[in-house]
Amino acid sequence: MRLILLGPPGCGKGTQAQLLHQRLGIDHIATGDLLREGMRLNTPVGQRARPYYEAGQLVPDELVNDLVAEHFARVHPQKFVLDGYPRTLSQAASFDKLLHQHSLALTAVILFRVNDDEIVRRISGRWNCPQCKAIYHMTAKPPRVAGVCDNDAIPLTQRRDDREDTVRARLLVYHRDTASLAPHYQAQGLLHEIEGIGGIEEIYARIMHIIQPQVAPPC
Ligand code: AMP
Repeated sequence: MRLILLGPPGCGKGTQAQLLHQRLGIDHIATGDLLREGMRLNTPVGQRARPYYEAGQLVPDELVNDLVAEHFARVHPQKFVLDGYPRTLSQAASFDKLLHQHSLALTAVILFRVNDDEIVRRISGRWNCPQCKAIYHMTAKPPRVAGVCDNDAIPLTQRRDDREDTVRARLLVYHRDTASLAPHYQAQGLLHEIEGIGGIEEIYARIMHIIQPQVAPPC
């Protein structure tokens, strides 16, 4: 099982990737997480990525491609779900080559459809506890007392790239660069589109409907 999840930021692909990881035992590879880790540890990659990341822009292709290639060389994932990569045609071309080098073929590429206003509502309402990492949403999952964490009463903070102006910038980037990936994978016969609005289990079921034949081939 080797999957790529495509879709705008905040479309729910991270949540679904996490579920696929837990339920199917496949690796969850998220370039956003690899970059955040690099920034937290202040690695050379983290330092180079930070200004782009904080402005809601894509970090340069060559930096992300190297990060992913290095991850594959170190971890040798055989079954995985990729979330947040590739994001440009040039990244997709580089990833095609990497898969070829590792003699791996993709199972499916799943594109989540969610409109921009829904994305802005979802992401810009998200707040986190800097201490215990709990995630809240101002309308969907508010804390008991406004602005503070239910678990430890620490004031909540917002990820810098989750602010509304940055979210709008990320969506512009998505429409400009990432939307062009669909035809790339369509041409390879791998693309499947799903509606990204709905409950978590509902969306998971849509994904399973696509990949089920690969998980449990009929006798
Ligand atoms: P994410 O957590 O996937 O929403 O990514 C957060 C940020 O990390 C993005 O806004 C970009 O700045 C950067 N990023 C993550 N993945 C990529 C990628 N494949 N190409 C370029 N930038 C990326």
